[in-house]
Amino acid sequence: MQLDISKIAASSAEGEKLVFDSESELMPVCFCGNDFIFPGKTKLSGTVTNKAGAFFLEMKVCGVSETLCARCGNPVRKDFDFNLNEKLIKSGGAADDDAVVIDGFNLNLDEFAVNGFLMNSSAKYLCSEECKGLCPVCGKNLNEGDCLCSKEQSDPRFDILDNLKF
Ligand SMILES: [Zn+2]
Ligand SMILES: [Zn+2]
Repeated sequence: MQLDISKIAASSAEGEKLVFDSESELMPVCFCGNDFIFPGKTKLSGTVTNKAGAFFLEMKVCGVSETLCARCGNPVRKDFDFNLNEKLIKSGGAADDDAVVIDGFNLNLDEFAVNGFLMNSSAKYLCSEECKGLCPVCGKNLNEGDCLCSKEQSDPRFDILDNLKF
């Protein structure tokens, strides 16, 4: 979602606030080897305030993310809900390490939302803490049941056969 803040950008608008409340379809993103998609709508709401030559974005982001389990590769869905605060300054102004430099007065709120999501997300996603992953030999998803490879290794009868000499 694009937010036009030119209404509060004039110097005479000091202290003025722009309120927004909308829903966005966020684009998929790849981060640290994880592909994230955002099924459905993500809720973006908050304010932008013109204060002391900068703009302060306070936004609440609320939605659903989907990525693949790091062990078994099945899709994992997670709700997310976080707040972000950013100080924004116009390009060409005084340097400020804490601020995000913006070009023009159209804010791409989706971009802020996705960046905030990535900062709040963990490196590894599992479908469950107990996920057994895939068999390294045959590739079967071990959450759906044991495969023959693991039986061969754990079944003592096979050890006896191995030890028989003909
Ligand atoms: Zn899994
Ligand atoms: Zn197997």
